[in-house]
Amino acid sequence: MIRNIWAVGRNYADHAKELGNDVPKEPFIFLKAGSSAVFDEVVILPEWAEDIHHEIEVALRFDKNLNIDAFALALDLTERKKQKELKDKGLPWTLAKSFTGSCPISKATSITKLDELKNLRIQLKINSEIKQDGNTNQMIFDFETLIAFVKKHFPVCEGDWLLTGTPAGVGPIKKVIH
Ligand code: ZN
Repeated sequence: MIRNIWAVGRNYADHAKELGNDVPKEPFIFLKAGSSAVFDEVVILPEWAEDIHHEIEVALRFDKNLNIDAFALALDLTERKKQKELKDKGLPWTLAKSFTGSCPISKATSITKLDELKNLRIQLKINSEIKQDGNTNQMIFDFETLIAFVKKHFPVCEGDWLLTGTPAGVGPIKKVIH
C-alpha cells in the first residue's frame, strides 16, 4: 500500500517553457494519491477524461530509513484540459493530476547510489514514434535537492515514491477501442 506520491512540476526547463511556465526558483511539489499508482501493463483512462497527456518521469522509492532503494519509470498522467481550467481559476489541480489510475509505474529496479541515475536518457514512444526524449542531466533540481526538499517539508513515509519531473514533448494519449 503506497501512502504518497510526491511529484515535482517544471523540473526540466524545456518542458516548463512548452507549457508557458517560468522556471521555478525552488522545487514546486504536488501530490498524487498513493492509491493512484497502478502496476499493470494496461493503462485504463477514466471515462470523463477528454485530453490526457503522458509525462514520462524517473520515479524514486523511499525505503524504511527514507533513503532511495529503487527507481522506476512512471507516467504522471495529466488531464490537460481540466488542469488548464483549474490553473486559470487559481484552484488546486487534484482532479487533473490525481484521478484513479493516474500514475502507472513500471517494475522497480534496485539501486544503491543515485549516481547511477545521473546521466540517464529517458524516452517515451507512442506506436514506436519518439514523443519525449530527455536526460536526467537536464533536471533543474537534482535528485538530492528534491529528496532533501520533500523530507524537510512533508511527512514522507516508507514506500512513498518521488516523481522527478518530465522532459519536453508531453502530448495526448488516446484510448484503444477494441
Ligand atoms: Zn509531471
